[in-house]
Amino acid sequence: MSNFRFKALEIAQSRQAMAVAAPTERVADFFGSYTFNNEVMRTLLSPEAYIKVTEAIQTNGQIDRNIADEVAGAMKSWATSKGATHYTHWFQPLTGETAEKHDAFFDITIDGKAIEKFKGSALVQQEPDASSFPNGGLRNTFEARGYTGWDPSSPAFLMDNGAGGKTLCIPSVFISYTGEALDYKTPLLKALNALDKAATAVCQYFDRNITKVTPTLGPEQEYFVVDRALFYARPDLVLAGRTVFGHAPARGQQLEDHYFGSIPPRINAFMVDFEFESMKLGMPVRTRHNEVAPGQFEVAPTFEEVNLAIDHNALLMDLMEKIAEKHNLKVLFHEKPFAGINGSGKHNNWSMGTNTGVNLLAPSTKPKESLRFLTFLVNVVKAVHDNADLLRASIASAGNEYRLGANEAPPAIVSVFLGESLTQALNDLETKSEVTVNKGDNVYYKLGLNRIPSLMRDNTDRNRTSPFAFTGNKFEFRAVGSSANSASTMTVLNAIVADQLNKFKTDLDERLAKGEKKELAIVDILKAYYSNTKRILFEGNGYSDEWVEEAARRGLSNIKSSPEALGVYVQPESLALFERTGVLSHAEVESRYEIELEKYIKNVQIESRVMGDLAMNHVVSTALKYQNKLAETARNLVELGMVAEAEPIKDILREISTRVLVIKKGVEAMIESRKKANNTTDTAERAKLYATEVKDHFEIIRYEVDKLEEIVDDEDWPLIKYRELLFVK
Ligand code: ADP
Ligand code: MG
Repeated sequence: MSNFRFKALEIAQSRQAMAVAAPTERVADFFGSYTFNNEVMRTLLSPEAYIKVTEAIQTNGQIDRNIADEVAGAMKSWATSKGATHYTHWFQPLTGETAEKHDAFFDITIDGKAIEKFKGSALVQQEPDASSFPNGGLRNTFEARGYTGWDPSSPAFLMDNGAGGKTLCIPSVFISYTGEALDYKTPLLKALNALDKAATAVCQYFDRNITKVTPTLGPEQEYFVVDRALFYARPDLVLAGRTVFGHAPARGQQLEDHYFGSIPPRINAFMVDFEFESMKLGMPVRTRHNEVAPGQFEVAPTFEEVNLAIDHNALLMDLMEKIAEKHNLKVLFHEKPFAGINGSGKHNNWSMGTNTGVNLLAPSTKPKESLRFLTFLVNVVKAVHDNADLLRASIASAGNEYRLGANEAPPAIVSVFLGESLTQALNDLETKSEVTVNKGDNVYYKLGLNRIPSLMRDNTDRNRTSPFAFTGNKFEFRAVGSSANSASTMTVLNAIVADQLNKFKTDLDERLAKGEKKELAIVDILKAYYSNTKRILFEGNGYSDEWVEEAARRGLSNIKSSPEALGVYVQPESLALFERTGVLSHAEVESRYEIELEKYIKNVQIESRVMGDLAMNHVVSTALKYQNKLAETARNLVELGMVAEAEPIKDILREISTRVLVIKKGVEAMIESRKKANNTTDTAERAKLYATEVKDHFEIIRYEVDKLEEIVDDEDWPLIKYRELLFVK
């Protein structure tokens, strides 16, 4: 067995679960011990500084220089006491990975004295080499330098650097020298701020005590795990993050090979390990086994404020990758690592909470609060309806393109699920003819708002196929890709809801100015919104073909290609919305669009190259060798006079030849398409060519290769097979 595949399999199969030292303390004793959190600040800062910092966090305000110096000093002594030697601004550039540049806390002068390097100025602002990060042309028109700035609303944390030391990581924004956003966090913070303002203003109609609204997010993260040796034996996984070939095992086989219901010991050890590390970093995670696909799992944190939840998700993904290495495993965050098998998403559970402790999307038993609940609910539905294409744009990527609309994944059509009871309640509200309220009448009873809470209590129905589902006290956006930074989608969602709430306020104020009764005016507006947007509501099976047809009849978009979806970002209405809400300037949107297209092109290009290379150098060459073996067998049979017996072998020889020919021609044509695309200077046009002409060859080539996998002797096949990859002990 000289085959590389068998060597890798031997290594993988000999591995045992790693012993993980389970934490001896109670969770409460180590939870957040690696974070410079509120408690630490209260202990280490002067009361004055502590109040200033917490105030700045609450109001997104500025922190002045001497306070920053004090915080920097406290951070440094806290971090060094825990073994940190370096610090870094930790930020999320548009590459999709997190970035950091480590600097030492201390320096040694020529005469051997240690000098302190971490001052307030270094905490507040850093200048990383911006030229190595994508800027989508912003730097051509603006200044070349960029800088990172401390985000006090996300606590600094300690990261093990693997060599025994630790680094203090300071969550930061990343902007160009002239102030344009070069990262995910900057527009997100602006969108969250816009939502806070708009939602608080609307809350004021219901409760004067509400002065702040905080959007919340709980991102459920799906992922696959494979053995490290097997991962490196698949060049496509290494280079493209997904398998470009591979015959899906029959369902029965999957079930046989996989420990359903229980977590394989090696995976379990990995989970226990990263769960412990996550807790130290203040991330409230719960891991569990997913039964949908073999080798696929999920980790779900408890929800947090959106900005923090997104930092935590990015950190968690980094952490999982590091800890997987330790366990000789590889985590796959790609949306569709295996064809024919469930893909991975990142379900974004989203809601809004108030300073008074109310979840604005939680139904209440009080009729008055029901009206507030309906106001927020209907406004969210309208925002999604009016901006469905923009929401679709926010989840567009090369990886997610394989998942949306594929098996067991939401379609590229944006629809909203509310559940039967809630839909019924809204229908009732809509059909209610003019309500007149006399003195002494209870307006809520007259409007039927007293019935909604009891209806909601019976609302146990769940629909797992809806991309945007109301799940009792929050919405769950399920179409987000597993590898995505949720900031893109959260920026859009919070911006469109903020924009809609502002419109609602304008509509309502107009009526109130005419002397209309507030409750009646609100219901009237909601009725009209509901009538105009209810075509986006869908309760049935979102994965079915009937829905695709029905959605088309309803005039809902179904944008399958990523470049086309991304194009919505730069349409005039989108640019106007981002500008109105103060989230992104035209130049910033244009640059993001350019960067996303470039990323798309690069991904498809890499896949196409890997595919061509594997097809010719691994698959075709193996098939030809196997043909030789078969030819020899056939010849021997004929020599022995067994002519008839040689016939089936000749059939196989012919089949291999036919398939090899299709593959060879396909690869050649694909290379030509790539050349044509590469010679196209316009980025949008080039992306489109990659999405169509280049990608059109993928299925054709893959089909033949996967057929050859079934024919060629297992001993000779060079690529780790699906059933081998998906099985981890
Ligand atoms: P399921 O798998 O049924 O979708 P889970 O319980 O796994 O549900 O995940 C639900 C997620 O929703 C969790 O991360 C949870 O913290 C989050 N969540 C719950 N309430 C809220 C809320 N008010 N805002 C945002 N997220 C929430
Ligand atoms: Mg979910």
